[in-house]
Amino acid sequence: MLEEKKIPYKIYLEEDEMPTSWYNVRADMKNKPAPILNPATLKPITVEELEPIFCRELAQQELDDTTPYIEIPQEIRDFYKMYRPAPLVRAYCLEKALGTPAKIYYKFEGNNTSGSHKLNSAIAQAYYAKKQGLKGVTTETGAGQWGTALSMACSYFDLDCNVYMVKVSYEQKPFRREVMRTYGANVTPSPSNTTHVGRKILEEFPGTTGSLGCAISEAVEAATTKEGYRYVLGSVLSQVLLHQTVIGLETKTALDKYDIKADIIIGCAGGGSNLGGLISPFVGEILRGEADYRIIAVEPASCPSLTRGKYVYDFCDTGKVCPLAKMYTLGSGFIPSANHAGGLRYHGMSSIVSQLYEEGYIEAVSVEQTSVFEAAQQFARIEGILPAPESSHAIKVAIDEAMKCKETGEEKTIVFGLTGTGYFDMVAYQRYNDGEMSDYIPTDDELEASFAKLPKVE
Ligand SMILES: *Cc1c(COP(=O)(O)O)cnc(C)c1O
Repeated sequence: MLEEKKIPYKIYLEEDEMPTSWYNVRADMKNKPAPILNPATLKPITVEELEPIFCRELAQQELDDTTPYIEIPQEIRDFYKMYRPAPLVRAYCLEKALGTPAKIYYKFEGNNTSGSHKLNSAIAQAYYAKKQGLKGVTTETGAGQWGTALSMACSYFDLDCNVYMVKVSYEQKPFRREVMRTYGANVTPSPSNTTHVGRKILEEFPGTTGSLGCAISEAVEAATTKEGYRYVLGSVLSQVLLHQTVIGLETKTALDKYDIKADIIIGCAGGGSNLGGLISPFVGEILRGEADYRIIAVEPASCPSLTRGKYVYDFCDTGKVCPLAKMYTLGSGFIPSANHAGGLRYHGMSSIVSQLYEEGYIEAVSVEQTSVFEAAQQFARIEGILPAPESSHAIKVAIDEAMKCKETGEEKTIVFGLTGTGYFDMVAYQRYNDGEMSDYIPTDDELEASFAKLPKVE
């Protein structure tokens, strides 16, 4: 009990305790994720072939399976210092309210204007684009968190930022859009008539409100057809997961500082970058035989790529212009129902997270959105933070695990990733508060129909 009192509500690190390198967990994986493939040749893609799409150094990071630590350039570390280290918070109030003997900690990534962990990779990608002398970058955004983070990062490095925003979000989330424009980004609703692929989709499906895959295709086309531009992506890619390891490295340092040993680590999984970044240092320990942890990925029941998807090669985008990745996927043509956790509505999963899941290092559960909002509301009322719907998937399962501890009397230590705040998701909260939220779970037939369209790659 005395020991425990010494653990503060918030564990902050000193500036000199912040990580100076990202940790590349692939270096410690015996079975590496399968190589990503060139969509034209279906052969493993090379750095040279990636260079027309991605910045040079990011292309190298994408394909680097062997370097365990990659130094964080000083300019990026300086930017990180403006909003990091992120606190590791002991959820004393939540523990008390639940009456659980479990000890609950969360790593809070919502302490920056963009409101989520995505800034950790946005600033890195903008830095490498600037260093390469590029004029600007293009990207897509669904719910808007990634576009917001990228527009902040681009304005810091004085880069042009072109965001293709899924049309339905563009119309329904005017405030996100205006934050991006305030930071100087050009925001185009997707599908648009500014690209070939956009025009083609508009012809085929007039009146469509767009999808993330379609916006990706437009952003890639815009980058590859304009001199001095490259495409950047907010999740799924191994380079993004690498940048997000600042989350896990800080978490590990903070836990070690107080001799805390985590038993269960929980994160929400959209494209897998925040989860991958949080768990990487811990998975590294498991892979090297130094420690053991239970790791749980939480996904929406409406978009269950790990729990119901197939582990095969698939396109990362609807337009089939991006490299193919071997990953747990629902099929690149799968359009999930309008779940309010926009950041988790992606058909596939990071190839690193997929391989770790395939080998049993990670468990996965899917949860329905009404139960997620119930947990979100409970958390907001008890811990004060208004969580993003995506993050609330992790909250839901952390609470479930804490309640299991209450039944068994086990004093487990639970750590979860609280990826962001929900201030721009108030329409979703409104639905929930008005009792108008429903749960949609795709049927097996719907999934089979989507699997039937998967590319045949041996
Ligand atoms: C984008 C987003 C996610 C999903 O992150 P992935 O790294 O793609 O799994 C989770 N939480 C918030 C707040 C987000 O903005």
